[in-house]
Order: sequence, then C-alpha cells, then structure tokens
Amino acid sequence: MRIRGVRRSILDISQFYCNECRAVIPLPRHEGRQKEKGHIKHIYCYKCECRTAHTEKRSFEF
Ligand SMILES: [Zn+2]
Repeated sequence: MRIRGVRRSILDISQFYCNECRAVIPLPRHEGRQKEKGHIKHIYCYKCECRTAHTEKRSFEF
C-alpha cells in the first residue's frame, strides 16, 4: 500500500510573471523537475495578448 505524497504539496502551483507587464499567471506544474528557479517559459499573457517570456516563481519561494 502506498500513501501518495500528502506532504508533497497537492497544490503544485507556480506563478509566472510576464516579463513585459508583470502580470501573474498561475499555472499548475505537472513536471517532476522543480528544482530550477527563475525558470523562463513562454506562455500566453492575457494582458499583452500574445506569448511573452514569463519568469517562474513558485508560491513557497516568496
Ligand atoms: Zn504581459
């Protein structure tokens, strides 16, 4: 029997900051590798209305 990581936060949400307008876009992380900080990801920004570079910031790193 395995207890699935209760302590490994169920809430694996990363905040992604738009590098253009600083809008915060929360995204759930599915990937196992979560070691990198300040990871840059290109995702759609609802403010810029286009894909921009977003810097990752995870909630517990605030
Ligand atoms: Zn933006």
